[in-house]
Amino acid sequence: MDVVILMKACKTCKFIIDEGMVCPLCQGTAFDEKITSYVFIVDAEKSQAAKELGITAPGRFAIIK
Ligand SMILES: [Zn+2]
Repeated sequence: MDVVILMKACKTCKFIIDEGMVCPLCQGTAFDEKITSYVFIVDAEKSQAAKELGITAPGRFAIIK
């Protein structure tokens, strides 16, 4: 059984959403639907990955090279 996960990443802040057309973080409306990998930030203040990627909020963020 194939499971298709529909995700898209905000082009401005990289925040990933499953549905909707507006980024809840920055209110952006431009999304990239080709996500190859992402990070899940639980605690942005303590996360080293969050620091390196410039993320300041918890959630899923696309890694876009
Ligand atoms: Zn955004």
